[in-house]
This record gives sequence, C-alpha cells and structure tokens, in this order.
Amino acid sequence: MGKRIAVIPGDGIGVEVTREAMRVLEAVSEVYGLALEMVTFDWGAEKYLREGVALPEGAVEMLQREYDAILAGAFGDPRVPDHRHAREILLGLRVQLDLYVNLRPVKLLDPRLTPLKGRTPEEIDFVIVRENTEGAYVDVGGVFKAGTPEEVALQEEITTRRGTERIIVAAFEYARTRGRRRVTLVDKSNVLRYGHGVWQRVFWEVARRYPEIEATHQYVDAMALLMVQDPAACDVIVTTNMFGDILSDLGAALIGGLGLAPSGNIHPGRVSLFEPVHGTAPALAGKNVANPMGAILTAAMMLDYLGEAAAARAIETAVVEAIRADEVTRDLGGSLSTEEVGRAIAARVRAHAS
Ligand code: ATP
Repeated sequence: MGKRIAVIPGDGIGVEVTREAMRVLEAVSEVYGLALEMVTFDWGAEKYLREGVALPEGAVEMLQREYDAILAGAFGDPRVPDHRHAREILLGLRVQLDLYVNLRPVKLLDPRLTPLKGRTPEEIDFVIVRENTEGAYVDVGGVFKAGTPEEVALQEEITTRRGTERIIVAAFEYARTRGRRRVTLVDKSNVLRYGHGVWQRVFWEVARRYPEIEATHQYVDAMALLMVQDPAACDVIVTTNMFGDILSDLGAALIGGLGLAPSGNIHPGRVSLFEPVHGTAPALAGKNVANPMGAILTAAMMLDYLGEAAAARAIETAVVEAIRADEVTRDLGGSLSTEEVGRAIAARVRAHAS
C-alpha cells in the first residue's frame, strides 16, 4: 500500500534541506518498495507576499482526507512582519490537526559531535515528549496601562486535565512500544503549584497503568543539570510546552547542534507533521551550505510513524555512516554542500540494498 506525503518546504534553508530529505526518501522508497507519493505545496513567504495567503482555505481538511503524513521544512522570512505567515501555517496545522505530541529525540550519532567530554552514543539516547497545544504558549493574557510606568502584563499558562493526561499517556505508550524503561515527568510543581499540581496528580495516576515502566520526577532546573551531567539517566522525558521547548534545544546541543535534530508533531493515529527542529537560518539560506541531516532524520521519523521501521533504520544508518566518513557540511566541520550530503546519504541507502 502506497503512502501519500504532503511536502511543505517553506522558506530559507527549509527549501534546501527538504529537497535532500525528499531525495533520500525517494532512494529508500525504491529500495524498500514503499510506493511513496510526495506532493509539494508552495506554502510560505513567497506565496504570502504574492497572494496574501498563508494556509489556503480547506487545506487542513484536504491534508486530513488525502494524506498520510506531512513533511515540512521551516517557515519565516524577514520580509514578513512578525513572521505572520509562519505562525498561521505552523500554528494553524498544529491546532487544527490537534498535534498534541511534540516528539524530540536526542540521540548522539557519533561521539565526536557532543560537547560533553567522553560521552558515547549509548549514553546520550533519550526522547523529549513535549506538550504541544497548551501551557504558557496559548497566547492568553493582556496588558494594562501599556507603555506607562505603571504597565502591568498578564501572561497565562493553561493546564487542562485532558491535555495533560493525553500527553502523559502518549509518553508511556511511546516507552512501552519502544522498549524504553523509564518515564520522567519534568515540571516546576514546587512553585507553579496549581497548574503543575495537575501534572503531578495525572502523572502518578497514569503511571499506575504501566507497572512495567519506572516513573520518576525531576524539577526542570534539576533536569537541565542532569542532561549535562548524567545524560544516560534520561530515557523518556514528558513535560510542558515551554519546558519542552527549552530542554529540547539543550538536547540538540548535546548531539551536535540544530542541524542534526529531528522532530514530530503528532496526534497518534492521525495525519501528523514532521519537521527539523531548526528554523530558516536566513544567513545560510540559498548558499547550499545548510546541514540537511536534521531534515533527513525527520523523514526517517516520519517513516517510523507510518510503520516503515526498517526503512527508517536504513536512513539513520546511512546518516551515521556519512558522519563517520566526514561527509558533512561545515557546521559539523566538513566541506560538503547541502546537496552533496543529501546525495551521499541517498547513495549509502541504495548501496545497502545491492
Ligand atoms: P528562524 O527565525 O527561522 O528560527 P534562526 O536563524 O533565528 O531562524 P535557526 O534557523 O533555528 O534560527 O538557526 C539558528 C542558527 O543555527 C543558524 O543561524 C545557524 O547558524 C544554525 N543552524 C540552524 N540550522 C542549521 C542547519 N540546518 N545547518 C547548519 N546550521 C544551522
């Protein structure tokens, strides 16, 4: 059975890295007979500036009806005030498709890539499960007496039992299906007593349904310390929207930088969106120098979600081999272009098949 993938490269380096992710997907699709059908959409800054449209009407329904997954690049452009189109596209898809799980693996692929002295790939291999629809990023609040010396601002953090329970269940289910042994709740319930009190109550309730998985807790400040001092103690981390945002950038630093980090925005069982963690990096855009590995590993994550585990592993193996052979862009100390890295990884995927 073929799979239909909606590809939205977006802006800046998003366009370049997505092209390489597609190249690798084509290679793996041939090798594993996946019959992937990729359809590219031009949603992004150019279209927004030209037509005033960010996310076309009916787009979400169309994606739900006709596609199995969405592969995105990055969105943002200095010519668009507040990156309005990026917000509309990414937030629109996240909210309307109700993509409540933001999955961010932190997996070291080569010991040379971590800034942590002496750490091995076996020791840095965990995943952050970030709540993606509520928390501090709901844009609820207001300003009183704006611009005056008496200015007062309220920025609310929203926590619902339903939203909290479903993300915690997703974390335990991820652990169960991937053979991971421990789920750690990360919050700040000692200070944010009401909202994070909900996380505490729900977490220990849900944990009882998974007796085979160890449930532990860390405050977010302690977790930041632990990720650096003892990353091997991290396995599956479940946390709020804001803490997940911050910790996953720290995670990206542990594995060699933003150019390598993949992510998924998921609603289990429904059409979901996969994108590299990095943004549009305007300073690198159009120069064929951006690292496409984050986007390529994102494509692997998408295949994994679609049930094509062997194809996903083949991509990851090819990326690990490419790094080992120094077939890398300049952010990883190499001299290859974005396209050369994409071609090298696609060739390695094909080479394994023959
Ligand atoms: P945006 O506003 O879209 O988030 P940004 O430049 O502020 O763009 P990122 O795109 O996340 O934020 O990148 C931050 C920096 O990280 C870049 O300037 C670049 O140096 C580095 N970086 C990010 N992604 C890559 C990549 N794929 N390859 C190489 N370097 C990257």
